[in-house]
Amino acid sequence: MITNTQLPEKFRQIIDKQIEIYKNGRSITQENKLPETSHIPINNPNHWLKIPDVICVFADMIGSTKLSASKHDKSTAGAYQLFSNTIVRLFHELNAPYIDIKGDGVFALFNSDQPNTALASAVTIKTFVNEEFINRIKSKTELDIGLHIAIDQKTLLVRKIGFKRYGDRTDRQNEVWAGRTVNMASKLASITKQNEMLVSDRFFKNLKDDLVLKSCGCPNNEVVDLWKEYDLSDNELFDFDKAYLLESNWCKEHGADFCTRIIELDK
Ligand SMILES: [Zn+2]
Repeated sequence: MITNTQLPEKFRQIIDKQIEIYKNGRSITQENKLPETSHIPINNPNHWLKIPDVICVFADMIGSTKLSASKHDKSTAGAYQLFSNTIVRLFHELNAPYIDIKGDGVFALFNSDQPNTALASAVTIKTFVNEEFINRIKSKTELDIGLHIAIDQKTLLVRKIGFKRYGDRTDRQNEVWAGRTVNMASKLASITKQNEMLVSDRFFKNLKDDLVLKSCGCPNNEVVDLWKEYDLSDNELFDFDKAYLLESNWCKEHGADFCTRIIELDK
C-alpha cells in the first residue's frame, strides 16, 4: 500500500480512482466484426468489446535502427515517411477496418471473412518494398533497410483508454487491443528475413484456393506450391507451433490479375 507520506496527494488520488474502477469489474460485449473506430467505447469505464478471430497484418522495417535522426535527418525522415505512408494507404485502399502506426511499423486489422484480402495486402506491401523502397533508400543512404512482415489471427478485446477530452485536446487516448493477435504478428514479423513473410498456422488454414496456394507458373510454365512449413515448436515466444513461409512477390506479368481475383475470393 502507498502511504500518505510516500506520494503527493494528487498522484495518490489518481491511483485510488483507477483501483476503484478496477474493483468494479468489467462488462464485455461480443461483436461479430471490427467496429468503426469512432464506435469503440471510451465513456463507460468498464466496457470492452470482444471480436472473434481478428486477422492482423504487421509490417515494420528491417534495419531501421541504422537510420539516424541526428546524422542523416532528411533521408531518415524520408525513409519513415515513404514506408509508413505508403503502407497505411495500401491497407486503407484494401478496406482494412483498423490501421495504426507503431514506431517503425504499421499494422492493419481485418475481419475473419477477409483472409484473402489480408494476404493480398501483405503481398502488395512486400512487392512495394522489394521493387521500390529498398533500392531508393539504399541509393540515398547506402543502408540496407528492408521489410519484416507477418500475419496472425485470434480473438481480441478493445476499448479506448485515456482521456476522452482534456481541454481542447483529444490526443490523450488510444485504442487498446488486448489479446495475442497484434503481439504475435509483431513477434512473428521480427523473425522474418528480407523477402520472407510468415503467417501462423491458424491464419493459414483460411487459405484454400489455388490462387493463393500455387504460383502463376512463371517463369518456366511450371506451377509450384508457394508456401513452406516453418517449425516453431521449440520457440517459446509463440502460442502456436507452426507457421508458413512465403517468399514470392506479385509476378510482373500476372500480379495485378491475381491480386484482383484473390480479393474477389472474400466477396
Ligand atoms: Zn506470372
